[in-house]
Amino acid sequence: MRAQSRSGSLAMQDLFSEGVISRAAQVLVDGLSDMVLDYTIPENMSIERGWRVEVPLRNRKATGTVLRIVQHTGPTQHPMKPILRTIEDAPVVSPELMDLAEWAAAYYAVPLEQMMRCIVPEPVRREHHEEKTHQLVCLVKKPSDEELNRLGSRAPRQAGVLRYLMASESGREALADVGGTAALSACRALERRGMVRLCREPLHRDPTAKEQYAPTSPLQLNEEQEHALRVILHAQQTGDTRPILLQGVTGSGKTEVYLQAAARVMAEGKGVLILVPEISLTPQTVARFKGRFAQEPGVVAILHSALSDGERFDEWHSIHRGRARIAIGPRSALFAPVRNLGLIIVDEEHDSSYKQENSPRYHGRDLAVLRARMEGASIVLGSATPSLESLHNVRLGKYSLVRLEKRADGQRLPLTRVLDMRSEPKDKRSMGIMSERLRRAIEERLEKQQQVILLLNRRGFARALQCPDCGHVVTCEHCALPLTYHLTENRLVCHICGYRAVAPRVCPECGSKAILLEGCGTQKVEQILMRCFPTARIRRVDADVTARKNALRDILEDFRAHRTDILLGTQMISKGLDFPRVTLVGVLNADLGLCVPDPRAAERTFQLLTQVAGRAGRGEVDGEVIIQTYSPQAAAIQYARRHDTDGFAENELGLRAKFAFPPFSHLSVLTVRSTHEDMASFAAETLHKRLLAALPPEVEISDPMPAPISKAYGQYRFQCVLKSQRARTVSDIVSAEITRLGAGDDITITLDIDAYNFM
Ligand code: ADP
Ligand code: ZN
Ligand code: ZN
Repeated sequence: MRAQSRSGSLAMQDLFSEGVISRAAQVLVDGLSDMVLDYTIPENMSIERGWRVEVPLRNRKATGTVLRIVQHTGPTQHPMKPILRTIEDAPVVSPELMDLAEWAAAYYAVPLEQMMRCIVPEPVRREHHEEKTHQLVCLVKKPSDEELNRLGSRAPRQAGVLRYLMASESGREALADVGGTAALSACRALERRGMVRLCREPLHRDPTAKEQYAPTSPLQLNEEQEHALRVILHAQQTGDTRPILLQGVTGSGKTEVYLQAAARVMAEGKGVLILVPEISLTPQTVARFKGRFAQEPGVVAILHSALSDGERFDEWHSIHRGRARIAIGPRSALFAPVRNLGLIIVDEEHDSSYKQENSPRYHGRDLAVLRARMEGASIVLGSATPSLESLHNVRLGKYSLVRLEKRADGQRLPLTRVLDMRSEPKDKRSMGIMSERLRRAIEERLEKQQQVILLLNRRGFARALQCPDCGHVVTCEHCALPLTYHLTENRLVCHICGYRAVAPRVCPECGSKAILLEGCGTQKVEQILMRCFPTARIRRVDADVTARKNALRDILEDFRAHRTDILLGTQMISKGLDFPRVTLVGVLNADLGLCVPDPRAAERTFQLLTQVAGRAGRGEVDGEVIIQTYSPQAAAIQYARRHDTDGFAENELGLRAKFAFPPFSHLSVLTVRSTHEDMASFAAETLHKRLLAALPPEVEISDPMPAPISKAYGQYRFQCVLKSQRARTVSDIVSAEITRLGAGDDITITLDIDAYNFM
């Protein structure tokens, strides 16, 4: 898996020199797996690490990135071919981003080429990109009034074009605006007279061109915000790259702090990078940046997963050239080629979408921290519910902490009630998904013309066993995590340590026979709600709905304009939304997320509940939150009820330390997939045996077993979980063993370092 350096070409060429070669370039050729070849550098070519080049490869040409310049003192083993040309006349990848790519490739045990793909995205590396151009008409010579009058009588169209251009500030306008093809002959005639010039210019495809952003001015910061801003700017001025954790309750005005910090850093001529969980889920954050910097069009670039290739190409180049100095985007934007980077902001740093779930499985926040250090930039990690990883780093003194304890608009945090669904009277019409109390609370808001958000927690609709009568969940004796039910063998299995147990026929707690959990989808819940509240306007947000382009944006706009009364959704609606008329947030089933075999299950549930609760009471009226649960005693639920992030962290870090779970260790998942069950199982067994021999004793490895999702996309899945003190021990040794195993075509083996998904 490691990049190998081979030199030279396969065919004999007369292009090489047999004598002493002084400088050669190691080029990582674009392609799927790592191929690093040495090439000579033609004398008149000046290149360095990070340049994109075209090189000969066998009988064709290929593109690649210069990894480093090497000195050869003697004759090489193989003749080297020269680099054909450079693709752009400047390095495309900065040395810092090259370092970041190399570091990440080693840490996450992926080929360097995969990381380079993130840094130089496909539309940019594709050579025959089509850069859209448009035709411009430029005023060359200003006519006198007399000339203009004369022209007006003879050729009114030409005079019209001139007047239009004279009225424009820059004296250059798109032909389309001047009159399009109908005005073309007039422009040509003017060109012959030497009055105007027609030229083509690249057309910047701005993905937000159609949106209007009202300009905003900085708000007067409150004391807490002022302090936070001072800390950030101080770090920036002194070149302190130690991450600053900005822990501020929902609505405390973190975004305003980001905006003012960004403006100050930009005023000093530096670039800013802002990471958000997912653009389509955080449209308000993007709009606020666009609005604050509306006076400088093009200064904010949006990197979006839904961009067309052309848009991505343009935004990337706009950042690369230094025209755009603020880049906003989801995790992949962390690689944006922002110039002279001064500040990185990771908003909602706890969000699990920062972890990429396919190869390369990097963590955007963690790499952002590293990038800041490499570039000498400051970095702010913001959240109302910081990850335990970050809180742990504060305790270790690796991060500094700044807190915002008050809501910026002086509103109180909402009052939160936890309803124990085991004893709570249920509303008959709602088929048990709603308690009578929640139904009445919703009716009350509807009468008062207020709005309601209802959360259906669907994360990890796992096959954990939860008793619908008493809420009991069967857990592992060794890990205290829910066991996963395997239908085929009728066993409960712990996916972290491998403990197995026979599935109980009745609930061990209350004796109920109805212990197998039945799930209820969002669509069904929507139908039930429509029956319960026939006059209410209800909208549903889930992955099915948001698959349509702009669907989410439209739904949120309708909700903002109060064309909708109730917004029903999955965790998607918990993030960064600010609707002043929402006075009630209901959580239909708070505990489902607790029933997954995942050491972060409690943390995620706590974060989800706290975040969604933060959507209530952002206006004049106090907010209320109602949480329905079968496990009212669960720490995640109790601490969320009190908005007590510190208490939760304290408690949960204690548990994590006890079981040596992250952040006290690194958990990695090795997965073997195949369409043949026995092949997957055999490969997993073999690999496991070899790893037992190869890994040092401090690395714990579970027995291979079917993954909780044991078959997906027609492939059987087996997995081992590895626990280690250093991640690199696992990346190095396991990737070497995977290579040594040389599994066949029908077997795919993946290694997920610092895994967030154990399914
Ligand atoms: P957070 O990002 O911490 O959840 P926001 O930035 O969304 O909080 O701020 C919540 C609300 O408070 C927003 O409507 C914002 O405009 C407002 N706000 C922020 N800072 C101030 C301030 N200093 N004075 C008045 N209102 C503010
Ligand atoms: Zn029970
Ligand atoms: Zn266990």
